[in-house]
Amino acid sequence: MDSLRSLPSVEQLLQTPAVLELVASYGRPLTLDAVRQALEEARQQFPQTGNIPNSSELVDRANNLIEESVRPTLTPVINASGVILHTNLGRAPLSRTALQAAQLAALSYTNLEFDLRNGKRGSRLLHAEALLCRLTGAEAAVVVNNNAAAVMLVLTALARRRAVVIARSQLVEIGGGFRIPDVMKQSGARLVEVGTTNRIHLYDYEAALEEKPVLFMRAHRSNFQIVGFTSEPELVEIVHVARNAGLPLLDDLGSGSLLDTAQYGLGHEPMVQESVQAGADLVCFSGDKLLGGPQAGIIVGRADLVAKLKKHPLARAIRADKLCLSALTATLLHYLKDEAVREIPVWRMIARQVEEIRLVAQRWAHELGAGEVVPGESTVGGGSLPGETLPTFLLALHVRNPSRFLERLRSLESPVIARTQDDLVLVDPRTVLPEEENTLLAGLRAVL
Ligand SMILES: *Cc1c(COP(=O)(O)O)cnc(C)c1O
Repeated sequence: MDSLRSLPSVEQLLQTPAVLELVASYGRPLTLDAVRQALEEARQQFPQTGNIPNSSELVDRANNLIEESVRPTLTPVINASGVILHTNLGRAPLSRTALQAAQLAALSYTNLEFDLRNGKRGSRLLHAEALLCRLTGAEAAVVVNNNAAAVMLVLTALARRRAVVIARSQLVEIGGGFRIPDVMKQSGARLVEVGTTNRIHLYDYEAALEEKPVLFMRAHRSNFQIVGFTSEPELVEIVHVARNAGLPLLDDLGSGSLLDTAQYGLGHEPMVQESVQAGADLVCFSGDKLLGGPQAGIIVGRADLVAKLKKHPLARAIRADKLCLSALTATLLHYLKDEAVREIPVWRMIARQVEEIRLVAQRWAHELGAGEVVPGESTVGGGSLPGETLPTFLLALHVRNPSRFLERLRSLESPVIARTQDDLVLVDPRTVLPEEENTLLAGLRAVL
């Protein structure tokens, strides 16, 4: 009968060629841990199973344990959900050029804060600022870690312990715990709410001047809609009231856009240029929503105010790094060169012709020998264009247990994120990158 004494020792296992190979690949500490754990498991299971694994079984187990511990937890996934700016899936994928720019910056030293002409310290913000000004018409710009940080910086630097006027209809929660009123409080600003949930008038803003505010703020309602009996003054009108009182206005666009979404069968998402044109003193927006670049918070506007923001200690704590700045600059160049729709993945997805999508879905159905092609809807996401959809075609798969099927798609080596409706699994080609197609089909085939 087997006994625990026949279990090999750690030292014996460490001499075997298979384990020596593990040491060469993964290093001694990790291998040693895994071998010890494999032996410990064998000891614990013995009373129930009466089974002693041999040395090759132990090495296999150690190998699996090592692979589990070195597998990255953050991994690429295939987005077949049809939500273009899916926050849980990391929002905008970068363009090739933006990736290459970040890669070059990552692998070497850069002139991030070094002026190559005079050999002295330079500004990291220089790199994106000129482009941002040119594209938006603003005087100055500053880039920080994300748009939540951008809002925080403006409120802290300009309105700490002072009053900020904002419409009640804009006191929203954006998702991920970002609530406009909480951010305002956290920055130390005192909230002066004006109007009602559905209607705000210019005289509401005028009356709020009694509270001696230092800033007017307007916030995009993100993925929330107010419909029916509603009204809100135009941005230019609010700017006018603010100007007359000598107050600056911050416009938090959330996504913002440099291109007109209305040209692609969608509603009109507020554009950064429009806010600057309307006279907003500061406009902030995300780098990884409709801009289609890396995670960043971008503030453009009046030079004197931007100078104040740059000097504030908080700006140092939330600054953008060289990878972000290089990818952002490369993304902005796509706009300058009028090639954004061709080069920036989220814009390519928005602009994709529905007929082309139908052909892709048909090809997939044909190659899989399963599923049918049905009309459906994709969405933009990222807090932009709430309620708006883009017509698409979906590969619809009839499966016995759709939620189990989705689960198995998620557990593939290249996880696939699809959705279900009624008893169907729906796969939207719009958000699948062309280079992912083969992997997607292999995954679907494996689960089918
Ligand atoms: C998304 C959003 C933010 C937060 O932007 P992040 O870049 O995710 O930090 C802030 N305000 C509005 C209106 C938004 O839609």
